[in-house]
Amino acid sequence: MKYNPFLNFCSVLDKAAAACGIAPEDYEVLKHPERELKVALPIIRDDGRLEVFEGYRVQHSSLRGPCKGGIRFHQDVNIDEVKALAAWMTFKCAIVNIPYGGGKGGVQVDPHALSASELEKLTRRYTAAILPLIGPQQDIPAPDVGTNAQSMDWLMDTYSMMHGYAVPGVATGKDIEVGGSLGRTEATGRGIMIITRLVCEAKGMKKARVAVQGAGNVGSISAKLIYERLGFDIVAISDVSGGVYKADGLDMSSVWEHLTAKKLLKDYSAPGVRHISNKELLLCDCDILIPAALENQITAEIASELKAGIVIEAANGPTSVDADSVLAGRGIDVYPDILANAGGVVVSYFEWAQNLQSLYWEEEDVNRMLDKVMVRAFRDVKAAADEYRVTLRLAAYITALKRLTRAAKLRGIFPR
Ligand code: GLU
Repeated sequence: MKYNPFLNFCSVLDKAAAACGIAPEDYEVLKHPERELKVALPIIRDDGRLEVFEGYRVQHSSLRGPCKGGIRFHQDVNIDEVKALAAWMTFKCAIVNIPYGGGKGGVQVDPHALSASELEKLTRRYTAAILPLIGPQQDIPAPDVGTNAQSMDWLMDTYSMMHGYAVPGVATGKDIEVGGSLGRTEATGRGIMIITRLVCEAKGMKKARVAVQGAGNVGSISAKLIYERLGFDIVAISDVSGGVYKADGLDMSSVWEHLTAKKLLKDYSAPGVRHISNKELLLCDCDILIPAALENQITAEIASELKAGIVIEAANGPTSVDADSVLAGRGIDVYPDILANAGGVVVSYFEWAQNLQSLYWEEEDVNRMLDKVMVRAFRDVKAAADEYRVTLRLAAYITALKRLTRAAKLRGIFPR
């Protein structure tokens, strides 16, 4: 059967609800996104041809506040993926206890195949197409795979032009000059570093050998901060072209220099560094594996051979449902995406709050508050895992589900 991440989400939800005794009718609503919009996006390519792209915006839940979540530009985007990503945002925001629901958008396009001006046209046309759904009180986009601060600047400008005044709070992850927050670019990676620190503290590990799959914003910054702040060895990192491995740790400052020059890892070389495939990276000899690429990377087959004892999910949905049971059976701890990679949306929340108040924070205040929120969420999830004797993934779902079903009960059903 075709991999359907939204059905996977529903099956994990059922397990979490059963484990903590929440009745099916109390969470049925979470199996149905509130709104799903599909849009057609014609643009004139640089060579004068007209091309029509397809896009989506899904609002999964606004139970706890406005919908919140990124926009993905990727050739594999489809409605089931966007629905799953939207649902994960609802749960992520509930786990870190910020006042948002969940949403997600996507355009089926390979952004690397478009010029800068084509990307701008597509982003603006997409913004115009989803205009009725978005707004600072309704649904607030952010970057995701294939989009960045510039995409959010264009989105914010398009929305503002339609309204006749600047509305910075319509999107987060913007550049600083147009209302972005200090610390937002690093936030997801910083959150991963914080979770890595907390995991190692809890296990009494002073040192760890870490492998990171993915060298985009999240993978590269996670690796850099874990290396710089925690002093851990990064033994492997990969991008679309493959990975590099060094048993006693890569020189992350030179890898970072290579990556920031927008060069592929297949072209990186240094003494003692071995080139490996993405599959070899997942299976390499390390203590902590951080998948920071796309969904469904750790399959049951990979899970049965994994050497890492700990997985910290920086990507959304990197572990398949089957792989999850294999990992649990082998006693490998998985710190789930909806907890581990929540740093991005937490600082998005700070950015939005700054935009609404027109009052901007110092970077150290952003980082300190992020730390506080991540530490609290980590403790909440650990406590649920102990209380219900479940995996950390189910514990994270339970933590969120309890907050969501409580909100649903308090709000009631309209109309009565
Ligand atoms: N795309 C990021 C995520 O999956 C960030 C979302 C946001 O900041 O709204 O968590």
